[in-house]
Amino acid sequence: MPTQEMYQALKAKLHDVVPDFELRYKAELAVEINRLKQERNAVILGHNYMEPALYHSIPDYTGDSLELSRRAATTDKDIIVFCGVKFMAETAKILNPTKTVLLPSQKAGCSLAASISAEDVRQLKARFPGVPVVTYVNTYADVKAESDICCTSSNAKAVVESLKADTVIFLPDEYLARNVANETGKHIIFPTLTPAASAELDYQLIGWHGRCEVHEKFTVQDIRDVREQFPDVAVLAHPECSPEVVAASDFSGSTTAMIRYVEQTRAPRYLLLTECAMGDNIAAANPDKEMLRLCSVRCPHMNQITLENVLDSLKHDQYVIEVPEEIRLRAARAVERMIAIGATGPKD
Ligand code: SF4
Repeated sequence: MPTQEMYQALKAKLHDVVPDFELRYKAELAVEINRLKQERNAVILGHNYMEPALYHSIPDYTGDSLELSRRAATTDKDIIVFCGVKFMAETAKILNPTKTVLLPSQKAGCSLAASISAEDVRQLKARFPGVPVVTYVNTYADVKAESDICCTSSNAKAVVESLKADTVIFLPDEYLARNVANETGKHIIFPTLTPAASAELDYQLIGWHGRCEVHEKFTVQDIRDVREQFPDVAVLAHPECSPEVVAASDFSGSTTAMIRYVEQTRAPRYLLLTECAMGDNIAAANPDKEMLRLCSVRCPHMNQITLENVLDSLKHDQYVIEVPEEIRLRAARAVERMIAIGATGPKD
């Protein structure tokens, strides 16, 4: 696509969201990236949290972690460029060991993924022998390798229920675990580092104290304040928000479920309690809907990915994601089991 055409296409979608001079500059970058992408037989996967100009110009596929994992598993391209964070790029490598997987920034980490180590999981398994381990896909490969099955916010409830177990270890997101406990009717404990007082404890869901540094910041007071100003607002919360915030919202679901909700309902306006860029992206895709967002809360990791470093990534093969084969094989089992389950229901 020539630069002028790209600029016009971006302008049509983003004129309310991105300043014009920025669109012209970004259109040039996007055209060069798309040219190189073809030349190098690459596919670009873009998470829903990518900034709007990137999101609407270079990805072959956009979506949440689960959708992008599926795309990564089936691509026939030689190179996968992941516009997301490191655990996502690792998941692509786990599913596609023969492909080159590139993450455009080395700083694109995640507070949740950093909250737990493989050794932490091994210690939990030693304390609760035989109890199946579910790990959120927002973890690093060595943690996935210690797990029986992974989940995303799209399918956490379905994954827990699929295990048909009385007790499940659910790691590492404290709030997602509490929300899943509410949805499944299970109750939850958070073990400390000291041994459990009694092996007879009536626990059902065993959690961990990891949190997403973005979603933990939203409060019930934020919702009250917005409702006071806009009583007809529909509030959508990601399940990484606290259970209190989820309870005070009208809908809770993964990023894709939120997009679907906005597309399929007709509220006068919507408030999205998630990374702010997603509000921009939904607003661009639904110009007839009014979108409110609290943009003081941003993910510093997702925001590391820019059109500039995606271009460098394709030019210089940076940064190559590697996962040791012994870890990859074990992690692949957990991820593939998750993919086989898929997403379910309106509350996913
Ligand atoms: S939004 Fe939260 S869970 Fe997602 S990458 Fe950022 S810190 Fe991690």
